Amino acid sequence: MNYEINNSNSNNKNVYVIEHPLVQHKLTLMRKKDTSFPSFRALLNEISMLMAFEITKEMPTELISIDTPLESISSPVINENKMVFVSILRAGNGILDGLLSVVPSACVGHIGIYRDPKSLEAIEYYFKMPTQMQDKDVIVVDPMLATGHTAVAAINRLKILEPKSIKFLCLISCPEGLKTLQDSHPDLKIFTASIDRELNDHGYILPGLGDAGDRIFGTS
Ligand code: URA
Repeated sequence: MNYEINNSNSNNKNVYVIEHPLVQHKLTLMRKKDTSFPSFRALLNEISMLMAFEITKEMPTELISIDTPLESISSPVINENKMVFVSILRAGNGILDGLLSVVPSACVGHIGIYRDPKSLEAIEYYFKMPTQMQDKDVIVVDPMLATGHTAVAAINRLKILEPKSIKFLCLISCPEGLKTLQDSHPDLKIFTASIDRELNDHGYILPGLGDAGDRIFGTS
């Protein structure tokens, strides 16, 4: 058992740990402190594509009639226009490209939230969603589920728009963030590549990978 990573928590209801070897391999490379930011960004793009397979597994399909060169058949397709990826700024944007490579016609929403250093309240500074959210399946993305406060605020805000469904996708989570998010939104399905050991006093996940935004955008 690797005590740094607590994926046994994956039997936690509504928490899905994506244990595919390719996902775990790429995550290991991303954790390494010597991985350059272009490599980190490329790996995040690749791992997001792989995680997209898992999170979209239950997407509804409908049959359409098509002609192959030899026959006419009914064959399944997804309705890509019903899918919305919502990025929590700014690190969430690092996951978007990978998801959009797999589901190119999905719409994209953005939420900007920061934590007021005095009140510790989540303050929203940007919110832009597609119209007609009532018939949309939403996947909210942020690489790190740390304290969980931003994720809770984002889901609270999205639920007002009454989308058909909401899921949450992150690379790394921790027990503290999972508890906070699940306490507020017990119905939410959370997909993650790892449940790491703990949160430190500065709100960083241990062992984690450092500041995801800085490592994606080369701002460290
Ligand atoms: N955000 C990050 O980018 N990294 C952490 O470890 C926690 C929050």
